[in-house]
Order: sequence, then C-alpha cells, then structure tokens
Amino acid sequence: MSSPQFQQEVAKRRTFAIISHPDAGKTTITEKVLLHGRAIQTAGTVKGRGSNQHAKSDWMEMEKERGISVTTSVMQFPYNDCLINLLDTPGHEDFSEDTYRTLTAVDSCLMVIDAAKGVEDRTRKLMEVTRLRDTPIVTFMNKLDRDIRDPMELLDEVETELNIMCAPITWPIGSGKLFKGVYHLQRDETLLYKSGQGHTIQEVRVVKGLDNPALDEAVGDDLAGQLREELELVMGASNEFDNELFLAGELTPVFFGTALGNFGVDHVLDGLSTWAPAPMPRATHDREVTASEEKFSGFVFKIQANMDPRHRDRIAFMRIVSGKYSQGMKMKHVRLGKTVSISDAVTFMAGDRERAEEAFAGDIIGLHNHGTIQIGDTFTQGEDLKFSGIPNFAPELFRRIRLRDPLKQKQLLKGLVQLSEEGAVQVFRPLDNNDLIVGAVGVLQFDVVVARLKSEYNVDALYEAVNVSTARWVYGDNAKKLDEFQRKMSQNLALDGGDNLTYIAPTMVNLNLTQERYPDIQFSKTREH
Ligand code: GDP
Repeated sequence: MSSPQFQQEVAKRRTFAIISHPDAGKTTITEKVLLHGRAIQTAGTVKGRGSNQHAKSDWMEMEKERGISVTTSVMQFPYNDCLINLLDTPGHEDFSEDTYRTLTAVDSCLMVIDAAKGVEDRTRKLMEVTRLRDTPIVTFMNKLDRDIRDPMELLDEVETELNIMCAPITWPIGSGKLFKGVYHLQRDETLLYKSGQGHTIQEVRVVKGLDNPALDEAVGDDLAGQLREELELVMGASNEFDNELFLAGELTPVFFGTALGNFGVDHVLDGLSTWAPAPMPRATHDREVTASEEKFSGFVFKIQANMDPRHRDRIAFMRIVSGKYSQGMKMKHVRLGKTVSISDAVTFMAGDRERAEEAFAGDIIGLHNHGTIQIGDTFTQGEDLKFSGIPNFAPELFRRIRLRDPLKQKQLLKGLVQLSEEGAVQVFRPLDNNDLIVGAVGVLQFDVVVARLKSEYNVDALYEAVNVSTARWVYGDNAKKLDEFQRKMSQNLALDGGDNLTYIAPTMVNLNLTQERYPDIQFSKTREH
C-alpha cells in the first residue's frame, strides 16, 4: 500500500475506552455506541453477548452467574469518517488491573458519570490512572431521564475532585419526567428528546437559535426561560472548549443525555471523532515511536484465556503502535529475539472474533499465544525496541495456595506462573519457605484462579489465610545495601512470577518501619513489565 493511503488509514483511527463507576451506564452506552456504529441492528444484544450456544468454561459461567464482565473485549466499527476501536474494560472492581492496563492501549477515554450521583469512587481511581499519560477525556453525564443533581454543581465537582477543567458542549433542559433535550452550545441549536425510543436511532427534532419562539413552544415557557438563564451563567462561569487543553488532558468537553433513551450518545461520538486524537506515539526505552512510521510495532497489554471455548489457547491483545499488520507477516518477538510468522491474528468486530487480514496503528489485534507471549512484550519488524509504561500493580489481597494432591506441585507452579504472566493473578514465592502466595487486586480473582487451575491444569487447589497485607517491589542502586537488606529481611522477602524481589509485609505499620530503616532501598507500588 502506498504511503498516502497508509497515512489516511492511520489518521482515521480513534481508539478509546469507557471509564465509569459500576452502574453508571457503561454497558448501556456501549450498546448505543454500537447501534450508532451500525455494528448491531437493535439494542439489547450486548449484555447477552456471552450467552450463545457454546459451552462455557467454568470461570465464564461464573462471570455469567454473577452478572459481571470479566473479559475485556475490543469492538471496531466505522463512525463518520473515522474507524473507532472501543476497548471494553471489566467494570467490576476486582479486575481493575486489567482495566488499568487496557488504559495504556487507548488514546482517549469516555468518562461516564451518573448525573444523579456525581463523581464516584471508581471513577476517581480510573482518572488517576489516565493522568499517568495525560489521556484526553470526554465526559458524558448520564441518566438525564431521572432527577439529577444541579448540572452546574456536577461540573464543579468534576473540576475540583478530578482536577480537570470542564467545557460544557451541550446543556440539559430539565431532567427526569421533564427532560426535554439539550442545547448544543457550539451549534446554537436545541435537540429535542423523545422518550421511549432508546432501542433505535431516533429522528431528533432540532430548533435553531436560543431566542427562537419555537423553543418556548417545544419545551414550555418555564424551561425555556430557565435554560436561557442558566446558559448566561454557564457561558460566564465555565470554560470554552479548547482543543489543545483537551489533548493535554487538562480540559474535558461535557455532554448530557440518557444512554437508556439513546439520547446524546451520538453527540459524544461526534465529539470523539472530531477531537479525539488519532493514534498517539508511545515511548520505548530508546526512542518514541510514532503511529505514522511504516514499520510495524506493537505491545501486548492483556492476555486472555479461552475467550472462545472451542479454542483452548490464549489470546494476547496487542496494540499496534506503528505501521501495519498484514496476514502472514513476519514479526520479531523482541524479548525472545525470535522472528515469528503471524498468519492468524484476530480482530474484534463488535465482539466477534474475526480473522484480520490487515490492521493499522491504533488497532488492536489478537495473537494466539501458546505460552510464549507475556504482558508487556514488544513485537517489531526487526528493531530491538521495548515499549515502556505497562504496569503491574501491587496486590492488596493475599492467600496461601495449597494442593489437595501434593504430587501436583509442578503443575501448580506452572499454572500459577502462566496465570501471572497473563496478569490474572500474581504469585509470590517466599525466600525462606516453600509456600506459594497468591496476590490479587480484587477478591474475585482468587475464585477465577482456582477454577482455571482445575480446568486448564487439572490441579485441585485451595486457599488458606496468610499473614501478608501488602507488597512492594524493591530495588536498590547500592548492591551492598541491597544485599544486606536481603539477608536481614529474608523472612519478609519473596520472588514474584518474574523473579523480581518483593517485600511482603504483614501490616502497613511493618512496611512503614522497614522503609524508614532502609532509606537506600526503593519500595515500589507498581512494576513495569
Ligand atoms: P454499567 O455497570 O456501568 O455497565 O451500567 P449498565 O449499563 O449496566 O447500567 C446500570 C443500570 O442503569 C441498568 O439498570 C441500566 O438500565 C440503567 N441505565 C443506564 N443508562 C440509563 C439511563 O440513561 N437512564 C436510566 N434511567 N437508567 C439507565
């Protein structure tokens, strides 16, 4: 393919994820986004995505039973002149590590807020993560068909709690039963809402201009008057949209609507396709790689087992950073120093696995992984690069894992190391004893691991309580001091799945004391792959 065509393909990509607190409406929005992207015919099909006729492995059953989404999937669809890659993230807090790493693979985020509730915990946490890379954020205030909090107050809360400026792009007219639609500040028009049309793309009636008497007619004198008053205030008190500040992650455009009523989701998509960045450069240890470079490169941010139970392999999700993938191409697996031929990568059209013939910078492809790919691995067309910034997070929950059948120690270790490589869990082997300690960010991870050990490794394991409450990876520039630390503190030290030295502390107090006693040792809450 010639260069200008290649550049065009890259430039039209928009890769983003939705961040929100559980129940704010992420699944509903995803569904409407797919509806607008013509990726599904009628809404109501996303939640049932997993419930097809195939038998599911145990942990997928678990996911279904508990009604949570464990898996991260990727959906690609065209919108306006763009090609959108929407990366779904598990909403449940127990799988936050996956969510965090998925955020390293996107170029922008849609933040969804329940307008009746405002900024919630998990949104706060996720925003912290997006701040590490100054990811541009678009905001959607959802559930306007319910009684919401004062919109001005909501913007204030976002600004002060999340430390990002707000620029309202639309402004709501009423809420709950009186929700009439939104006024679009940039287009100077009112878009009128009709309830009960959530499953389709509705014909929206538009009233031009704020002083148009048709507006009073459509929403009533009271609400029209209130809108004009509020807008005067809004225009005086809030920020105007500024593309540069948006791209720097300092300002977020804000939209109002209802995902359930499918109203406003298209405004968000219009905003995203217009403003959100095309595939962004990514740092490696040596240099920055830009998307427009024609040589292929990419990194693995997630490994997922058994998405399709008919395939017993794992899928490694790779974000393409530069160049283009074409079927059968050769890539260098940099960590192994090996060249591999990839003939069967998959793309993710609206949740279905499909064979990819071509994919470009900004896209996500899935590689079949038979145990040779780890999170953080870089693939290139020859150059020895290593992408940086794909983090591991120190677990907050710990259990000792024990076999029912002691003869299977080898399989257990193999299973745990593989599961830790794909990020399902973290494993620690204390220096001073033969325990195996499993660490997780969320408690559900423990159940998933035992279920998968049984179904994939034929190992029957159980958990016991262990006196560990927090962990830090430790480093030291001074070899002598590190050595001394290692000797004296060996009863609290362990190696993780990648043989990195880790301090496992019974209490926070213990950790703090140890940190004070060993000022030359660095204790880190995150570790890069
Ligand atoms: P998630 O946990 O963020 O994926 O949230 P869901 O999309 O599953 O939504 C949580 C609940 O809120 C569901 O019962 C939805 O039907 C409901 N919901 C989502 N959007 C809206 C909305 O715009 N209005 C109302 N009234 N309910 C909504």
